[in-house]
Amino acid sequence: MSDCLFCKIIKGEIPSQVVYENEAVMIFKDIAPVAPTHWLAIPKSHIDNIYDPRLVDGELLQSIFAAIQHVSEAEGLSENGFRVIVNYGNDAGEAVPHLHFHLIAGRKLNWPPG
Ligand code: 5GP
Ligand code: ZN
Repeated sequence: MSDCLFCKIIKGEIPSQVVYENEAVMIFKDIAPVAPTHWLAIPKSHIDNIYDPRLVDGELLQSIFAAIQHVSEAEGLSENGFRVIVNYGNDAGEAVPHLHFHLIAGRKLNWPPG
């Protein structure tokens, strides 16, 4: 989508610090990290949110989690643990309408979240 912030990041129109990418998925550093490690895992195809039918009918979600598994292991996040979060809607504070999974690590994370 031409006016989507994360689509612009995928196209390189907005710079980002890429941690990992393949043909379907990109993982990059969040611009305002809430922990020592804060990355965003996104599909390269524009997906609005968790209600997109392509997430339950196809291989996209498998690709995203394969990338999350690979990178979290390769970068050592799995050692002490980490959190994977999707914010949906106003109450959750969703700000960018391109599906993204926050990967947050590197400190003790509170539960329940604020
Ligand atoms: P949400 O609140 O929608 O779940 O998360 C959106 C995330 O995108 C926020 O954590 C925010 O810091 C991050 N973000 C917003 N704009 C940019 C940007 O231009 N570059 C990067 N790397 N992250 C961004
Ligand atoms: Zn997009």
